[in-house]
Amino acid sequence: MTVRRRWVLAVLGLAPWLTIAACGGVSGGAAVAGPSTPTPTLDTTGFLEFVAGTAPLVIVAPHGGSLKPLTVPDRTCAGCEFLADANTEDLARLVVEAFVRRTGKRPFLALNHLHRIKFDGNRELDEATGSHSLLNGVWNSWQDNLDSVSARAARAHAGRGLYIELHGHAHAVARIEIGYLLTAAQLRSSDAVLSSGAAMRQSSIARLVNDTRSGAADVVLLRGAPSLGALLYGAGYPAVPSPSDPAPKDGDSYFNGGYNTVRHGSLNGGLTDAVQLECNFAGVRDTAANRAAFADVLASILQQYLKAQYGWPAV
Ligand SMILES: [Zn+2]
Repeated sequence: MTVRRRWVLAVLGLAPWLTIAACGGVSGGAAVAGPSTPTPTLDTTGFLEFVAGTAPLVIVAPHGGSLKPLTVPDRTCAGCEFLADANTEDLARLVVEAFVRRTGKRPFLALNHLHRIKFDGNRELDEATGSHSLLNGVWNSWQDNLDSVSARAARAHAGRGLYIELHGHAHAVARIEIGYLLTAAQLRSSDAVLSSGAAMRQSSIARLVNDTRSGAADVVLLRGAPSLGALLYGAGYPAVPSPSDPAPKDGDSYFNGGYNTVRHGSLNGGLTDAVQLECNFAGVRDTAANRAAFADVLASILQQYLKAQYGWPAV
């Protein structure tokens, strides 16, 4: 059960979204302002939440919202998705707090509180809003602030950062689908084919492929021992691509990324590499205990990954 809160924010002048004086919003039960927890900040629309961080890491949940205000029309577009990714908003908060406990540094957090029937935080303008122009400001605010938090995260580490977007899927195979903008067919290629072609340099981690602290080769970053998939698998969470599961089989459902992975990844020269994590439900995001356990594991993995591949922290 979420808790509705209303508060007045001081004008802090620290970032574009912090220049707003007042708004209403929703907070998860544990995210109460305190000495070690920054006050959640909402944008002008009141439907979005951005919390500034100190680490070169952005945690985003674009489909976890539950707000269905009567003043916002439902999206009815043909072919659009309307189901929320259950519990991913809570999961995102838990990952952030677990990372803070482990490192003393705070990832940037971005949450879309609107239910997907109202607004899709991972689509281009028309599909995101269902072509309801009164939501154009929400879309602009969401994307502009994602641009901003990504840039600020990169500035926390000499212009390099990692953008992680949390989603939920209900596919037949219970595993975490890691999206780098490579299709299932591309992933079914051999390492030699993947490495020799342009695929890795057209992925959402293109910058990392060209400049990684560990010196790991491109396909090794994708599904070798230091890959996110390997780290997840090693912690008891099956994942694809990974050494144990290098590619979805022909006919398997698989999400490889979306609008945000393109826009906020390094495919087109962005400062942050982007990874879409599509989480299965049972054992990962179903119960509070399972979410907390997974969040702690993911925070640990992201800490390891930032150290090994980005050299963060520097000392
Ligand atoms: Zn999603």
